[in-house]
This record gives sequence, structure tokens and C-alpha cells, in this order.
Amino acid sequence: MDVASRMGRLRARLAEAGCDALLVTKLVNVRYLTGFTGSAGMLLVRAGDAVLLTDGRYAEQSSAQLRAAGVECSLEIGRPAHQLEVLDTTLKGVARLGLEAEHIAWAEKRRLAGALGGAAGASTSLIATRDVVEALRVVKDAGELARIELAAQIADVALAQVKERLREAVTEQEFALELDYEMRLRGADDVSFETIVASGPNAALPHARPSERRIEEGELVVVDFGAEIDGYRSDMTRTLCVGSPASSQMSDLVDAVLIAERAGVRALRPGVSGDEVDRACREALSRAGCEELFVHGTGHGVGLEIHESPALSRGSADILDEGAVVTVEPGVYVPGTGGVRIEDTLVVTANGARTLTKSTKDTIL
Ligand code: ZN
Ligand code: ZN
Repeated sequence: MDVASRMGRLRARLAEAGCDALLVTKLVNVRYLTGFTGSAGMLLVRAGDAVLLTDGRYAEQSSAQLRAAGVECSLEIGRPAHQLEVLDTTLKGVARLGLEAEHIAWAEKRRLAGALGGAAGASTSLIATRDVVEALRVVKDAGELARIELAAQIADVALAQVKERLREAVTEQEFALELDYEMRLRGADDVSFETIVASGPNAALPHARPSERRIEEGELVVVDFGAEIDGYRSDMTRTLCVGSPASSQMSDLVDAVLIAERAGVRALRPGVSGDEVDRACREALSRAGCEELFVHGTGHGVGLEIHESPALSRGSADILDEGAVVTVEPGVYVPGTGGVRIEDTLVVTANGARTLTKSTKDTIL
């Protein structure tokens, strides 16, 4: 992973973002730019230098991680009050300080504004910025891709390993736990997000939490999960059934969603908008007469966060770039009855996309 070059790419964007320096307070962005994985800290990036501010718990870890990533950045360790004093001094002469407006608490912004009254004085104005670091994170480098790919492989193997347990009338919670355990056992640092196992009528809830409900033969179960490697995540959904689906409506919906997912995947290539990919899925479901049951967007970027840019949803003007990692995940939901969702994680290539999540899409066990 080439962490060291990222700060340079960020500096090239500061002017466009309307600021002379950026205070990065969103931790996942701090991690992206420096390799630092602590639970508290902020990073000030100026045109000519950068400083990572964190507290005593992370003195050793932060310096080791900066060194390992080869990042040029000075380090300030101290309590929050000390960090604010350092910022005030460092920002002397900086006219416009960008803040990550969508990720800074009101109280934090007030504290900052109050602290910049000393050396920096009233000459530093605070600028609201949006998605400055997030835009850099969209296209993945080879190292990032390798991590996401490994996460996807681990999830594939884990599902193949535990799938047969569905025949034993396990509960949703038991099945989720076995899947999580298997992923951890096979090298995942963590799960990508709380695993979703939703059976029968529960599958009508796109973000159901696993319950104590036993999974019965003939009913659909939506399993949405992923593994995390070194901060990078995979995301996959399969809809499974022990035996044939008891309901012919559900069986038809499985076919419709499979076709819609293929249509969405085929629409992926550099230069298309998130809206166009979404439309490809939506039109396929519309031809099957069930578009109104598709109640969410088609997909999202995946990386250090499970949901990141670009958005593949209705009206999204985000343009896909080669090297972006995204999901395609159409789903249909019939309240009180059940639901179907199929999702893959893919990387956009020069003339299409390559699927990273490779588990079979056969519904019937
Ligand atoms: Zn998912
Ligand atoms: Zn997803």
C-alpha cells in the first residue's frame, strides 16, 4: 500500500476546497493519510508540512505507524488542551483552515474556534469542506485492492464452510455467529459490519438483525456479511433456501433479482454514473413487475468504510473510475412475507468490472 504519497495528493486539492490547510478529524481519513489506527487524534495538513496530534495512550503506536508507512509528518502528543494550543501556534499565518464539516461535532468546532484566538488570532477563518479526503479514497491502489480481495475470499470460504448448517434448523443468531467465527478463524481481523441473517418474514427488512427465529425448510434467508483485513472490507449478500422455496412468489422474485444484479454488474465501467447503474437494475426489476419492491439504492463504494463513495443510487452523479470498488445489490421486500437480495463487491476495470465475491448464487442448498 502506498500510504506516503497520499498527503501530496491531498495538498494538490486544498486550493480547490477553498482552504490553505485542512484539519482532518475523521479517524478513518487520518488512518488513510498516515497509517495511524488509534481511536483519538487529528491531523493538520498544511502546504509544506503536517502534524499528527494524539494523546499519551498512542505515543508509541503513532510514531511506529508513521514510520512503517513512510509518512513525513511531525507528532504532537498531549492532552486535548495542549493539542489546541499547538494548533493555535501552528496555524499562525494560515488564513483559511478547512474542517471536515460533516464529521466534526458542534462542540468540537466551537472549541476550535475559541482556541484560535491566541497566536493564530482572528486572522484564521474556518472553512466547511466536504469529501476532500473521501474523494482521494475512491480509487484503490494495488495494496488496498489485495486486502479487499482477501477479505472477499475469506467470506466466500466461510460461507461455503457453514452453509450446510442451515439444514439443521439453526437460529438466525446461531448461523450469524458461526459465519463470523469462521471468518475470524480464517484470518479476518474483524467482520465488516454486523452480519445480517434474515429468514422468512424477517427478510422483508433490508437491515434486519439476526433473531432467535429458527430457519425452516422452504423459506428464503438473506445473508449479508463481509470480512475485514487491515481495515479494508468486503460486502456480499446471498439469498439461500433449504429445498425449493415454498412460495412461488418468492421463487419468481429470486429470478428477478438475479437478472437485475447481472444487469447492474454489466452496466459497470469507467465513465458511467451511479444513477446509470442504478437504472440498469431498476429497469430489470420493472420488466419483472416488481420495481416498487426495491426500496433502496443499488450499491455503494467499499474500502476502509463499509459505505463510502461513490453512491450507486437514483440521481447519483458520481462517475465511476477505473480502480473504484463498489457493490451491486438489488433487493426486493414484501412486508410480512419475505425478501430477496443478491450483492457482489466488484472492482471497476478498464472496460467493465471484476467480481471479487465469488460464492455461488444458487439459492437452493
Ligand atoms: Zn451487504
Ligand atoms: Zn452493501
